Amino acid sequence: MKREFAVIGLGRFGGSICRELSEEGMDVLAIDIHEEKINEYKNIVAHAVIADTTDENTLKELGIRNFEHVIVAIGENIQASILTTLMLKELGIKKITVKAQNDYHEKVLNKIGADHVVHPERDMGRRIAHNIISTNILDH
Ligand code: ATP
Repeated sequence: MKREFAVIGLGRFGGSICRELSEEGMDVLAIDIHEEKINEYKNIVAHAVIADTTDENTLKELGIRNFEHVIVAIGENIQASILTTLMLKELGIKKITVKAQNDYHEKVLNKIGADHVVHPERDMGRRIAHNIISTNILDH
């Protein structure tokens, strides 16, 4: 059974999530405010739509309610990320994963009910540091 995911924001982070999910056979709706991003992903994902997700009616028209998991990968525009997350929450999305830009952004996202907040650069930095330590231990 295919599971449905929506990914909002097709930067490096959101784009790579779209690619991986699609390669694994998942049904992905990719959304971005910029047409060129949608053109880049329209042949990779099942559905690709140009939309501004800070508009509540747009989110409703997209039928976002029907998605079991929505990933918000809007980065620099923190206001758009927070507004989008808030509306997804109000629309009753069960699982919302959001990319945070900094610690304050993360705090707000947790307060408004994001289920999973990620900091790709920080999290990856931590992981690599631990890998370096364990490799060094094995080498000695
Ligand atoms: P990355 O590090 O993953 O490349 P980033 O942190 O630099 O991304 P941005 O490039 O600022 O993040 O945002 C990611 C995408 O989100 C962009 O392609 C941008 O067009 C899209 N985006 C920004 N605002 C909105 C919005 N209101 N609705 C939909 N998409 C949006």
